[in-house]
Amino acid sequence: MPFDLVPGATIGILGGGQLGRMLALAAAKLGLKTHVYAEDPESPAFDVASMRTIAPYEDEMALTEFAGTVELVTYEFENVPSRTASILSAACLVRPSPETLAVCQDRLAEKEFLAAASIKTAPYMKVDDAGALARAVAQIGRPSILKTRRFGYDGKGQVLLREGADLAVTFRTLGGTPAILEAVVPFAKEISVVAARGPDNAFAAYDICENIHENHILKSTRAPARLPKEIAAEAVRLTRVIVDALDYSGVIAVEMFVVGEADGRGDARIELCVNEIAPRVHNSGHWTLDGAVTSQFEQHIRAIAGWPLGAPNRLGAQEGEHVEMENLIGEDVLAWAKILGEPGACLHLYGKAEARPGRKMGHVTRIVPSPIL
Ligand code: AMP
Repeated sequence: MPFDLVPGATIGILGGGQLGRMLALAAAKLGLKTHVYAEDPESPAFDVASMRTIAPYEDEMALTEFAGTVELVTYEFENVPSRTASILSAACLVRPSPETLAVCQDRLAEKEFLAAASIKTAPYMKVDDAGALARAVAQIGRPSILKTRRFGYDGKGQVLLREGADLAVTFRTLGGTPAILEAVVPFAKEISVVAARGPDNAFAAYDICENIHENHILKSTRAPARLPKEIAAEAVRLTRVIVDALDYSGVIAVEMFVVGEADGRGDARIELCVNEIAPRVHNSGHWTLDGAVTSQFEQHIRAIAGWPLGAPNRLGAQEGEHVEMENLIGEDVLAWAKILGEPGACLHLYGKAEARPGRKMGHVTRIVPSPIL
């Protein structure tokens, strides 16, 4: 198959956060250039890209100029406006596709897509107004979670609906925008499958990630997840069904709830329930930078370029070893010097000036037990 890009080509990246930064670094490793398009002049990805555009995502002239300088466009966030995606795809390849974006940026469209693929999710109902919320609560019960259909991340755009909460007030709290009501899933743990699919159908999945959230923000990931083998295989199978149905190109992350006992003894009552699909590289895959043969960032570049996928194998995969990734959130980053002094710890800093609470400033990866100690 002819390659879609050759070394020396330029990839456009929409979004200039840490994901864009690590994508640009991975592209550079493979002899590719990057042009980062972002709204914020302080975007961390600008430090490491060949070209930059600072403009709103709705600026049609800036988008057209940007498209003229790149062979292919990808993105680091799924809330790319659909008009932006269609302007860009008229001018060059956009991977993953605008159709994929449309599914993954709307919680209702995503849930309906998963249902059509016979993949289990939390029970949900569409909520367009306070009246619909009352009907949804009558069916789904409480506690349940009201989530805006669009623009939610790190727990933003969602609210837990407890017994006694006023429905009209709750609906207004979320801005009165179209939403869904979801049942609370009594999960034993949260996992994600980070995987890649190439335009030629090649597929490669990393070891399953086991994720711990604090205040709705990912705090740490452990790979491989502690799961019975057949459940891990089922998680990968579901991911394969999803990428094939989307005719996907690039790295994807599928977040899932593990429901039931996940004690490693092969309990047959364990079930998987898909929470969310991220059509991009994902925080739970950051461990692959130091813990896998091919990082998720390099894998994404390979996949969108139509190049052979790299091996997803975990490094340090001896019996009893695992990889841990810890996010440095807000002032956690002040420990950078201590982490540098820790044998075997791999530190990544995103170059953000201000350590605001809840802001992802960097991460650290460790192979446990450390091969160095
Ligand atoms: P989300 O933005 O949908 O990924 O939700 C952020 C986090 O909220 C998840 O990682 C879970 O910890 C929690 N959460 C979201 N939806 C549910 C649900 N239906 N049941 C239980 N916990 C949930």
